[in-house]
This record gives sequence, C-alpha cells and structure tokens, in this order.
Amino acid sequence: MNIYEYQAMALLNERGVSVVPGYMAASVEEAVQAAEKLSSAPYVIKSQILAGGRGKGHFLEAPTEGGGVRLVSDLAAVKEQAASMLGRRLVTAQTDAQGIPVEKLLITEAISIGREFYLSLLVDRKTGRVTFVASPEGGMDIEAVAKDKPEAIHRIAIDPATGFQPHHGRMIGFALGLSGDVFKQGIKLAASLYKAFIESDISLLEINPLVETTDGKLLPVDAKVSFDDNALFRHSSIAAMGEAGASDPLEQEARQAGLSYIKLDGSIGCMVNGAGLAMGTMDIIQLHGEMPANFLDVGGGASKEKVAAAFRIILSDPSVKGILVNIFGGIMRCDILAEGIIAAARELEMTVPLVVRLEGNNVNEGKAALVSSGLPIITANDLGDAAQKIVAAIRQTA
Ligand code: GDP
Ligand code: MG
Repeated sequence: MNIYEYQAMALLNERGVSVVPGYMAASVEEAVQAAEKLSSAPYVIKSQILAGGRGKGHFLEAPTEGGGVRLVSDLAAVKEQAASMLGRRLVTAQTDAQGIPVEKLLITEAISIGREFYLSLLVDRKTGRVTFVASPEGGMDIEAVAKDKPEAIHRIAIDPATGFQPHHGRMIGFALGLSGDVFKQGIKLAASLYKAFIESDISLLEINPLVETTDGKLLPVDAKVSFDDNALFRHSSIAAMGEAGASDPLEQEARQAGLSYIKLDGSIGCMVNGAGLAMGTMDIIQLHGEMPANFLDVGGGASKEKVAAAFRIILSDPSVKGILVNIFGGIMRCDILAEGIIAAARELEMTVPLVVRLEGNNVNEGKAALVSSGLPIITANDLGDAAQKIVAAIRQTA
C-alpha cells in the first residue's frame, strides 16, 4: 500500500523527523487557507498523486501551464496556481499518457535549497537486509544517476542482529558527503528513518530530494512510502490512510470484500479462483488476441456473496466488454458458484457477453443451473475453449 506525500510527511514528523511545514488542501479555498497558516511566502504547491516525477510532469488539459510542483511567491499566486492544478490530470514519466487526476495539493513553505541528496530505505532481497541507498546526486533524476554514474550510489546494509548503529549513520553521512552539524543531523535522521521503517512495517521509504538548506538544515522535501500489505493488520491507523487514498475505487471495494483484484488495461473481465489459475487465464486470453481487464482471485472457498461482489466489481468497470469466469470447484462447489453468478447477472442487468468454464465438484449441477437460468450465458469446457469463446463474443458485439 502506498500513501500520499502529505501523509508520509505527517508519519515521519510523528516519528521525530523534522519536515518542511505544510498542509494538505482539497480545494482552492483550502489551498489559500493552508498558505495563510504558514509563516511566510514563498510557497510550494505540490500535486498529491501516487506517482513520482511530478516536478517534470505536465497537465493533460494544460501542457504548457507548468508542472505538478510549483513555486509561487504570494497568496494570490497560490489561488491562481491551485485552481489550474486541482481537478486536472497530471502526466508524469511514472503515469500513463492519460495521467492521474489531482484531487489534493500539499502547500508547503518554500525552503532555500543548498544541496539535494537521495536517501532511501528498502529491503534488499539479495542480502535479505534492510538497506539504505544514499547518493549525493539527489533531485529529480536519480534514475539517470543510477544508469550513468552508478559509483555515486552507495548501499549501506543493516544487520538485523545489531539493528541501526551509530557507525551506520556515519557511513550514510560520508556517502552523502555531509560535514559539520549537518553530518550530525544526518546520523539522527537515518536513525529515525530506520526506526520508522521497522516499527511501521514499511517496505520502501524514499526521500528524493533530501535537502541541505542554505541555512544548514537537513530536511526531506519529498517522500514516498510503501507498506508491507501483509503487516497492515497490525497498523490500523496506517491501513486507514490507504482507505482515504484515491487508489482505484474498485480496488478499494474489492479489498473490503476480501477479494484480490488488480485493474488492468484490457477488455475482458476475469473472475477466477486461485492466483495461479488467474494467471493462466490471463495468459490464455492474450494468446487468443485480447487483453484481460483485471486480475481477480475470489479465493478457494469463496461464498455466493463473494462471487456476487466480484461480479459487481467487474461490471462496474466501463472498459469490460466481456466476462470470463473460470472456476475450479475444489473447496467450492460449482452449483453454489453457479447460483452466485446467476443471482449477480440478474441483479446487475448484465449487458456484456459472459462465458463460464466450470470444472470440479458438482460441475454438472452447476452447468445445468446456468443453462436453465435462461440468461445468455455461454458455457465452455476447457480453458482454451473458454478463451476462444469470449474473444469471439466480444468481437462479434463490437
Ligand atoms: P517529484 O518531481 O515528484 O519528485 O517532486 P518533488 O517533491 O521531489 O519536487 C520536485 C522538485 O521541486 C525538487 O527536486 C526540488 O528541486 C523542487 N522543490 C520542491 N520543494 C521546494 C522548495 O521548497 N524550494 C525549492 N527551491 N525547490 C523546491
Ligand atoms: Mg522527488
């Protein structure tokens, strides 16, 4: 789960990291009020989207009016710029060509930047250790640094047996090229980041840039934080932050229904039980020349209610032109499943073709129920047959 920059800054601040004063705003009025609460101009207006590269991005509706991070000199400019950012779609190197709508802004005091660094914490799969990645070449182009100047990127792994020690802090300070009091601030910052990382079950904490201000303060100016989803159950306040986020509303609904759902770009909605079968189903759809609209695993023991919820989610996606249900009744009985499909198809007035492939427990009863329902459900016998049928059906409707 990812959170917005303003949430990440609040989280870091709660855990003892000094951050640039700022407030979130969801309207132009709130943006002006946020700036009024800050001590002095100039201000920075930052689009809150769950993607990076905002500074160098552009708005789909106004490509020449400026990027997703803007420095402004007074309250009037806050008003004007906030109005030209909110509600528009921000396109960056990390979004698709349609961009992501900006619904929230973070208004901060502008700081006077002396130097920009890169500092992140991640789990290094190779060494199995939480590792700091530090570079004196921070700012907006860390990907280019990694490619052209890999020697400027330093990795400092933390042995879980010792945890973070002062010498790790010093190594990070040296890696960033800090000196004097800023060096000391760097050690303290690294210790706080490590503690936050472990305590909150973070999987990635990236600060780019970390800034040394012209008056000698070390401050994170941007933060990206991702959490380990499997540990969210023990952090209810963090999980709640995710709910407030504008992650795909269908993905949110699926999470509430206990379904594994990921929205994709294609046109065939898939409802499958088991992640492996879901992968196989997506592959075979592509093999037959179409793309899946989603990954959806209803789980091994899905109930009739879960199936209905899954159906609702698929049908609420306007890019779905046809549905392929592929279920193996192992734990689940095919006839119960068929009932769920029929109930959902009736309730939702399905207008797209539906191909169902069932196999396993009570499969004959399940198929019979589908046939006798009177609904225009196409049944299939195996995976290849099902994929062919749904592809043919959507091409025919188109
Ligand atoms: P990103 O483009 O999504 O990574 O957004 P950032 O939050 O990193 O902002 C992009 C750039 O805007 C930073 O690298 C800074 O150079 C600049 N920036 C952000 N805040 C300030 C500020 O308070 N003062 C100044 N001078 N520049 C800032
Ligand atoms: Mg950044």
